[in-house]
Amino acid sequence: MMKINELKLAIYAGHGGTDPGASSSYGKESDKALELMTAATSYARSLGIKVINNRISNVARNISADARKANAEKVNAVIEIHFDSATATANGTTGFYCEGSTTSKSLAQKVNDRVDDYFRDRDIKPDTSTRHGRLGILRETSAPAMLLETCFISNKDDMTTYSTKKTLIAQAIVHGALDYFNIAPPNTKPNKPNPAPTKPKPSTPVVSNPYVGKKLVSKSKALRFYSKPSWVDKDVAGTVNEGLGFPTVLAKVNVNGSPQYKVQNSKGAIFYITASTKYVELKAK
Ligand SMILES: [Zn+2]
Repeated sequence: MMKINELKLAIYAGHGGTDPGASSSYGKESDKALELMTAATSYARSLGIKVINNRISNVARNISADARKANAEKVNAVIEIHFDSATATANGTTGFYCEGSTTSKSLAQKVNDRVDDYFRDRDIKPDTSTRHGRLGILRETSAPAMLLETCFISNKDDMTTYSTKKTLIAQAIVHGALDYFNIAPPNTKPNKPNPAPTKPKPSTPVVSNPYVGKKLVSKSKALRFYSKPSWVDKDVAGTVNEGLGFPTVLAKVNVNGSPQYKVQNSKGAIFYITASTKYVELKAK
């Protein structure tokens, strides 16, 4: 069985240049075919399929030259995109194939079956007409070839569906080709969004405070405490009497060669007080 990345398709757009094909108030066939060809091509390439096109802008195409290109490139299949036109009520999808070619007939059937998920199924038809010369592509190519009349450019509902579901219709064309080659189309359901990346937790260094569960108690009368790490008078914030103190001890700091405890009162205010065991002691709360 062929693998998807071994597959090479000619995805062509009908008309172009001075030949707009059909037109209506919904647009020109040459433009819509190019648009859908481009969407189908990008989708196919996203799956790893090699694709050649006959034109990538609004230029005239040459059916025989396009057929020779497909033959020279040894593509596995040819799909040419058109839009049909008739009275305002005519609608639906048709797949054309070269009469007598069972492979082309099967390809036309597979592509038609996918695209008619979006439009009325007009089924496949053998090429018995020479209408706008389009069907030469089916006769002159050596690979299985089909011509897709996607829907009716003259039909309002068809064109509303086309313009709202163009991406899916482009995928359907490619899936039809994959069906022909017995390659399972990828699951086209929207992927579940990836779970939001878990933010790395801020790396809070684990500080083991050796003073957890301890309180500071003064062993002295009128023991001074300071508003900042300091021993100078102007930084004295108050005094604490013997047996009283601070409920929370945060750290021990060195202040000009002598240790102080960084402490917190019951209201959360931070002060500094001597850490000398001569004046203070730490007690379990
Ligand atoms: Zn056409």
